[in-house]
Amino acid sequence: MKYDYLIVGSGLFGSTFANLASKQGKKVLVIDRRNHIAGNVYTKNIEGINVHKYGAHIFHTDYKDVWDYVNSFVEFNRYTNSPIARIGNEVYNMPFNMNTFSKMWDDVFTPEDALKHIEEEKKEIDHEPQNLEEQAISLVGRTIYEKLIKGYTEKQWNRDCKDLPSFIIKRLPVRLIYDNNYFNDKYQGIPIGGYTKLVEKMLEGIEVKLNTNYFDNVDYYKSIAKKIVYTGPIDEYFSYSLGKLEWRSLKFDTKILNQTNYQGNAVVNYTGHEVDYTRVIEHKHFEFDSTSPKTVVTFEYPADYKEGMEKYYTVNDSKNNELANRYRELASKEENVIFGGRLAEYKYYDMDDVIKSAFDLFNGLK
Ligand code: FAD
Ligand code: UDP
Repeated sequence: MKYDYLIVGSGLFGSTFANLASKQGKKVLVIDRRNHIAGNVYTKNIEGINVHKYGAHIFHTDYKDVWDYVNSFVEFNRYTNSPIARIGNEVYNMPFNMNTFSKMWDDVFTPEDALKHIEEEKKEIDHEPQNLEEQAISLVGRTIYEKLIKGYTEKQWNRDCKDLPSFIIKRLPVRLIYDNNYFNDKYQGIPIGGYTKLVEKMLEGIEVKLNTNYFDNVDYYKSIAKKIVYTGPIDEYFSYSLGKLEWRSLKFDTKILNQTNYQGNAVVNYTGHEVDYTRVIEHKHFEFDSTSPKTVVTFEYPADYKEGMEKYYTVNDSKNNELANRYRELASKEENVIFGGRLAEYKYYDMDDVIKSAFDLFNGLK
């Protein structure tokens, strides 16, 4: 066999695994069906600005080993995500914190003032929250739920908030301090030079073939490598034999504008139904050294997944979780194939979790 590992997919899972294996002297081949490396963290330089082609990506982690690992390839900047939420003619700070509360209610100056409103409003939920709507109201009250959560969530998931699981909204911090940092993690930033540069460095010295689909030649790939690391969709691997898993997709409308500053922030969320997009990304604000006279903005429209689109978000309802479990069962019986990453595990993973899981999987092989 020519290779120890054939890695299907050059996203963060595949690239981390390839890097670790190659550092141990293993022979590795990485293939990807796209015409570029880096999977969904791919960034492309447009007008001197690193544009996040598959949605805005902010690296944040509590894992020191993961942070040290990514920083060993490229330097990260000090970017702290602090999105703005727009509803009609109003603008609020996200996540929910004292800046949000003091603007929402004009008698709020202290944490005690904010708690008075929230405690009063959350009285309507007198039991354990059963869905996203009840969870949101019990976290921040109905006023904030209706202005900053309901519309955004319904657009994002195309479902009523009463039909969505409460864990989705628990991702967001609620803080009684004046702090607009979207994440609680210890480390945060954006790779200087873009994510593609990070992945290029991870794959340095490793053979990579682009525009190459594993399913075009499965027998050949199995014959050249001792082990396959598969990071594509798990249901596709098994030719959808148990049925198709559901996904949410996105459409990105990217524009180059002849102005230096469009919205004054990298991320602006649109939390009402007056527009169909959920957020607008102004890519240059992820960086601190852009001298471009232009700016690049992306309008992000949630979409139902259809054939030919990209699979972005897993739909973790009981029906899909159950189907994913049945596919996992099949995967566990597949000899010499390792399944990893968000598509192959059908799991909503952040970047650091993907890297961490590649660490764990690789180290567990020894
Ligand atoms: P991918 O990046 O999807 O890589 C899989 C690769 O496999 C792809 O390149 C694909 O082309 C290739 N492939 C699949 N099938 C085949 C085949 N048959 N043959 C050859 N190649 C194949 N995480 C954060 O931490 N912070 C964020 O701010 C953040 N923002 C996000 C925003 C959006 C809109 C989305 C959808 C996700 C976001 N994430 C974020 C999550 C992050 O994108 C993922 O954790 C990470 O990119 C997953 O890496 P992966 O290697 O598992 O998958
Ligand atoms: N959310 C919201 N209003 C916002 C931003 C987020 O209601 O302005 C809700 C929405 O339900 C979303 C969830 O919080 O699906 C998680 O948001 P996050 O930014 O973590 O989404 P992701 O990173 O998955 O795109």
